[in-house]
Parts: sequence; C-alpha cells; structure tokens
Amino acid sequence: MSVGSQVMSVGYGRAFASYAGPQKKPVIDGSLLREISEVACLENQACARKVALAAAIWDSCVHQTVQIGEHIMDAGNYAASETAKALGCSKTVADTLADVGMDLRLRLPAVKAAFEAGELDLARVRAIYRTTNCYSLEAAQRAESEILHAARRMSSGPLATEIAATMQRIAPDETAELRKKLASLTRVRYRHKDVLATIEADLEAADAAACWQLINEMAATVCNRDPRTRNQRLAAAYSALLRREEYLPCSCTEDEDHPCSAKREVPDRRAPLTTVTIDLTTLAGLSDLPGYLAGHGLIDAEYARELAANGDWQLILTEASNLAAKLGVDGDKAAGLASSVGLGGGGAAGTPVTFHPLGRGLRRRGSSFPERAASGSLDRGPKVPVGGCYRGSYTLIAAMEAAIASNPALAEAVHPDGHGGFTEPPAGALSYRPSAALADCVRHRDRTCRHPGCDVPAASCEIDHVVPYRHRDPARGGWTVSTNLHCLCRYHHMLKTMGVWIPRMLAGGADYWVSSSGTTAITLPGSVVGTADLSGESLIPHIPRKRLAKCSTDPAEPAVASATAAAGSAADTADPAPF
Ligand SMILES: [Zn+2]
Ligand SMILES: [Zn+2]
Repeated sequence: MSVGSQVMSVGYGRAFASYAGPQKKPVIDGSLLREISEVACLENQACARKVALAAAIWDSCVHQTVQIGEHIMDAGNYAASETAKALGCSKTVADTLADVGMDLRLRLPAVKAAFEAGELDLARVRAIYRTTNCYSLEAAQRAESEILHAARRMSSGPLATEIAATMQRIAPDETAELRKKLASLTRVRYRHKDVLATIEADLEAADAAACWQLINEMAATVCNRDPRTRNQRLAAAYSALLRREEYLPCSCTEDEDHPCSAKREVPDRRAPLTTVTIDLTTLAGLSDLPGYLAGHGLIDAEYARELAANGDWQLILTEASNLAAKLGVDGDKAAGLASSVGLGGGGAAGTPVTFHPLGRGLRRRGSSFPERAASGSLDRGPKVPVGGCYRGSYTLIAAMEAAIASNPALAEAVHPDGHGGFTEPPAGALSYRPSAALADCVRHRDRTCRHPGCDVPAASCEIDHVVPYRHRDPARGGWTVSTNLHCLCRYHHMLKTMGVWIPRMLAGGADYWVSSSGTTAITLPGSVVGTADLSGESLIPHIPRKRLAKCSTDPAEPAVASATAAAGSAADTADPAPF
C-alpha cells in the first residue's frame, strides 16, 4: 500500500494529501464523510426531479395524437427522442426514466417521497421499479413499506434479491404466474462497443445454468499448461461455441518434457457477415489510419489489416470533398479550429473530408497483404499532442452550429426539391426502391442511423427519402438519388414519418434536424474519414465514432480509393458488399 501510493504520488504531485507516516490504523477526516453524504443527498434530489420531468414529458406527449394519412398515432415515442437529445442518452435510457417516473407517481408514493427527499439513489429506485412493476398495484402497495425499509439499508444488488423474496412471500400466486410471463423477456444484447465489447444474454434460469456449464466444459478442453487466465479461456470458449467448434485449441508451449495433452489445431474461421472498411494505403501498410468494423465502430489499423487479410475484399472508389467548404462554413476557421486543437497539417488539410462512393470493383478472395512497414518509415502525419482537446467530427459540428446561428440560410437544404440538382431524373430516380448499388453507397456513406445520437448500424437501417417520395407522382416528389437518401433505424424512421423530427440534407451529406418542439441537431455522414495518429494514444474509450480528417491530397480531387474487405467466404462476384 505505502509503496504503491508513493509511486503514484510522483506522477500526481500535489494532488494527494501529504504522507502521514506509519500508524496503527488509517483514519479519515469525518467532515469528508459527512460532505460526501450530503452531496449524494443533493444528487438524489436532483435525480428525482429529472425522473419526474422525464415522466411529465412522456405524459404530455402521450395525450397528443398525430394523424399520418389514415393512421392516428400517439406521440409517446417522440418524448423519448427529445429527452434523449436533452440528456445525451439513448432512447432506451430516456424510456426507462419516464417509466420509472410514471411508476413512482402512480404506484409507489412512499418510494417517490423518499427519492425526492434524497434518501434513495437512482440505482435503488430502479431496482425497486424493476422488481415490482410486473406485480399488480395491490401487491406493490402491500409491499411498499417493507421495500422502503430495506432500500434505506441495502445497495441495489442485494436489495433486488430481498424484494424478490418479499414479493414471493406477499404475493406467491402472482410470483408463480410472473415466472411464466418473464420467460418472454429473454434477450441478447450487444453493448459497450470499445476495444472489448459485451454480448449479454437474459435467459431463463435453467438455460443460463446450462449455457454456463457448456462454456466451462469448452474452456476445460485445453491442457493445464495453457497460459491464459480462466477469464480468457472462458471468453475464448464462448466464441468457439458460437462458431460451432468442437474444442478450444490449446496455446501452451510444447516441448519434449512437456507434451500437450489437448488438441492444438486452430480451426479455419471465416466470419460470414462482418465488413471492415480500410483505407488503401493503410491496407498496404504505408499508413496507419483506423479502419471501420461495421456494426461496431473504429478499430486500429493493425487489427483492420489482420481482419482484411483473412477475408474477401472489394475496391470502392470514392470522391473526397472538403466538408467545411461544401457546407459553407469558413474553411479556414474550421481548419484553424482543427489545428488549434492539435490536428495541424495546415490549410485545408486539417478539415474533415467526406468520401462519397463512386463505384465498386469485383469482389476478390483475400490474399496476403504487405507486412506493415517498420514504424519509422510510416506516414503518420504530424505528431499530435496526446490528451486535452477533443478532435472528432463534433469540432466541425460546433463550427457549423455557430455558422448557422449567425447565418440561418446555411441550414437550408441544398436541394429542397429532393432532386439532387438534376433537371431530368437520372436512371432509377423515379422508382421508390434504390438499386442495390445505390443503397450500398448510401449505407457506406452513413455507416449508422442518421438521427442524432443513434448508432444503429447502417446494415440494420431502412433507406429513407429525405424529401418524401410521392408514389402517385414520383417526378414531383423527392427522387431516389444519393443526395436525397439517408439511413434511419426503424424507430427514427417512424418519428420522421410522424413529422416530429424533420431532416434537411445540406451539402456533403450533412443532415440538419429540427423537431416539432424546435430542438435542432446536425449529424455528419459516418464516412467522414479520420486521420490523427492513434498509435501514440490509449485508443479507446474516447475515439469519436466519426473521424476528423487530415487528407494529404487536395480534398477536392476525386482520387481516393478505399478497400472494403469483407471477412467472408463469398465467391468472386459483383454482389453488393453486405453492409
Ligand atoms: Zn497444451
Ligand atoms: Zn436511429
């Protein structure tokens, strides 16, 4: 302890309290403990207010209806999108806050009062909500005072267990019924998409126990000299099971004295549907720009090359354009902004660039790519200072917001008629469904849903006409051209159709959103390509999903190629890539 803290204090200097020397017991100043309790109480009170407001926003919306053609829909879904935008959280979190708030208001007045008094935190209130909201009002009310008693003394995990026991005692019949109903709530989620990502499953108890057993059995197929930790073996076993492999290859070091008693052959793995986008120079080992793993996010260059070498690949020719200039934001200012925050490069080189797909090559089977050059010879651009300023695409968004504030004309759609500047409709522009190639280009450009804050991957999105398509008179409606199409997940597509969030497409594929309550937001296409040398930084967790560019060529020149390597086993075809 003393060694560790002394080592740390070298780095942090005066940030630490002075060293008190050896003593019998550690002591903490009582005033610090009192203050942390008081601050927590204030935080809980504010949180109770936040939850009540989320419920009030939902409540006000649900009593309004929207008529779309012949359908009447309530505006309840819209509430979550506004709350999510205001809080910077996901729609799921916003929904939960509103649900908790309504539940407290309608069913649990004593818990609500304790929350408002600052006695309970959100974690415990959520545990109470989660464990009681499927019970009848009558059962919840009978249990409330007991639950509150427990909640004042326990943290959220043990509290949930305690409440389950209480409910079983108070309402045994309902509990038995519920067990059957809860079986319908099983699900698997893909979360925390950083260097490590989480796949999480809510299963019925017996299923979960059986799966856990299978993972442990698979992990035990290596010999006992395998160098991995138990956690690492379990993770490898989990992945091997999903790939329908028979065993986990042992990774011990074998020699004459220590023969391996397990199987060691690494099975041939071909993930069928993952798509990695990687810059051509990076693929060739000449530079180190991050790649993009569809449905996940940015990955470092070395990992991208590793995945690409093992897959099919397809060349996509893209046109690069300087986004700041296209958007009418002062290019120098945006560049200045970029270099002032450490992106350097000078002139337009520091401003974000969009890459608009122009054409595609045939798909080819992966081959061996050049080894990465020795690190000294890499073109990594200027060294940037680590830490400090934010350098992602939101730098440009901030510049745009400021520009629009002083000149609202910048927020007008570049093609308000949705015709993309064409006077005659090009081929396919009057049919509702975009061609496979066009859809592919739009998905490649957008990468995710284009509603602010949404990260549903483009592959799971619908392709939406920004200016609506008119089925009865296609020539007069929005056309099916790339400048009038973007990706929206089903949920945000529905809100757009309701007319509660309306997008306008600006130059360069930027979207300007306005909600019916007047909230505005700008989103950029996901293919705004980045540069910054990430190798010197601790990569995640703060990589912006969209990247800021430093383009070494003139950004106006349409000569940048990127390769899409699909880690798949499809034959040499001209099929659209699976993103
Ligand atoms: Zn072994
Ligand atoms: Zn969305």
